[in-house]
This record gives sequence, C-alpha cells and structure tokens, in this order.
Amino acid sequence: MTLYKKKSDLFEKINDIKGKNLIIGLVPTMGSLHKGHLSLVERSLEENDYTIVSIFINPTQFNDKKDLDSYPKNLIDDCRYLESLSSDIIIFSPDIDEIYDKNLSVKQFDFQGLDKFMEGEYRKGHFEGVATVVSHLFKIVRPNKAYFGEKDYQQLRIIQQLVIQNNIPVNVIGCKTIREYDGLALSSRNAKLDLHSRKIASKIFEAINFCRDNYKSKDLEKIINDIDIFFKNISEIELEYFIIADSETLTPVKKITKDKQYRVFIAVRIDEVRLIDNIELN
Ligand code: AMP
Repeated sequence: MTLYKKKSDLFEKINDIKGKNLIIGLVPTMGSLHKGHLSLVERSLEENDYTIVSIFINPTQFNDKKDLDSYPKNLIDDCRYLESLSSDIIIFSPDIDEIYDKNLSVKQFDFQGLDKFMEGEYRKGHFEGVATVVSHLFKIVRPNKAYFGEKDYQQLRIIQQLVIQNNIPVNVIGCKTIREYDGLALSSRNAKLDLHSRKIASKIFEAINFCRDNYKSKDLEKIINDIDIFFKNISEIELEYFIIADSETLTPVKKITKDKQYRVFIAVRIDEVRLIDNIELN
C-alpha cells in the first residue's frame, strides 16, 4: 500500500502507469472502511492493473455542518485494512485545499432530473458536491474504471449521467450492497449507533423487504401507507422518505408497468444518525 497526500506526487505515479498502458480502477470513498467498501476494492483489484482508493471527506456534499463534523475518521486503520487486502493498493488521501485550492465552490450540473427526489430533495446541494469532487478525482486519477455502490443508488445513476454528459472516458461500475446478518446495509455511519439503535436499525431492511414482497399484489399507495404506520409505531425511528421509483429515471411512481425496472428507496433518522437504503423490486 502506498499513501499519497499530494496530487503532484500522484500525478507522477499515474503518468508512469499510463505510460505503460496499464489499466487503473478508482474507488472513491470517505474512509472508515468496511466490508461494503472492500467489495468495491476487491472487484477493482480483480479487473485492473492498479487500484486507487481515494479517502476524502468531501465538505461540499454535506448540507449539515454537524453531520460533516461528526463523520468518522480512521485513516490509519483504513490504510492497515487496505494493506491486508493487497500491498499494491494506492491510497490517495488529500487535504481539502489539495482538491479545492482554497475555493470551496461546487460546479453546476444538469442531472436530467435524477437529483429531483430522495437525497436530492432532502439534502440540497448534495449531488453538486458529489459530482464536483468526483469530477476532480477523475481528472487527477484518469481511471479506466470507477466503482460505486448500489447502496447509494441515486449517486451511482448521477455519476453514470455525469460521465455520459461530459464525455468522460470512464467505465462506471455499480456494485451490489453488502449487508449485515440482519439485512442492515453496511455504512460508516452505523458505527455511530448505540446497541439499542443498532438493533432496531434492522427495521429499515424489514420495510424495504416488505415492499419487495408485496408490490405485485398490493396497491403501491397502500404499501406506502402501511410503512408510514409501521414507522409511526417505532418511536426511535423517524421516517424521512419511503419512495418507489423508476430505476432508470428515479421518478417516483404510483403504479408498476411491466418491462420497467423499479427500486424502493428509504431514508430514516435513528438517534440523530441518518441512514439510507434501497433495493430493486423486479
Ligand atoms: P462512502 O465512503 O460512504 O462515500 O462510500 C464509498 C463507496 O462505497 C460508495 O460508492 C458507496 O456506495 C459504497 N458503499 C458504501 N456502503 C456500501 C455497502 N454496504 N455495500 C456496497 N457498497 C457500499
């Protein structure tokens, strides 16, 4: 494992790799790595000559300062974790100025409506921040492939759109969500849950599974209503949204049409910790 903090140093390494016509896979992360991240890294190691894992808590994608300040940081453990996977991994963990050059502004994008609902609606400016930092990383790393988790499905669709619209020569690869034994999607934020909150966090997966089990036989509005009542009866969980949407356009739907793909998306707060998840329905 080699750790780079400066993009000028990384540039040299990338030039060397590119000069040899070798293939680079990029896995962008905000650190506090878990098995979900690892599944992306493992896939990149299999499919590329070099894997670069970026570890950068991107300030411009946080609309809530408290959330940013309390985001877990574990660079030393992360480096150890990656080293245990492969000694060839390159880690890029820059300071904020290295990426933003003292100008913490975001670029403007046309996401074709993919940012209109769910995270785009509840975290204003979030995707401009994500797309800005990913654009910077793509310019610095010049990867052939980049790996993103379906856990953040809306983000994955937005990056796919970003690449198409800006003719960026990167193959964006979506990877399956890795879950705990009880279905809770792995997330760096899970570490902020106390024992009790962690236990009831499994209700998130229960809710989206209920939707998957019933969307064929029940009215979607009835399902949404049932889920609303389900969470009203769990005082520790505050439901932010529960939306069934077209997997392609991410537009919420009230009816399912055959030969289209759908997913159910959820965001909740448990004890101040905001958690999101989604699964495919068909
Ligand atoms: P983050 O560090 O939360 O920004 O996540 C970095 C990447 O890991 C993103 O592409 C996420 O979608 C992905 N990721 C996070 N959690 C999981 C998970 N449980 N399973 C698969 N991928 C994940």
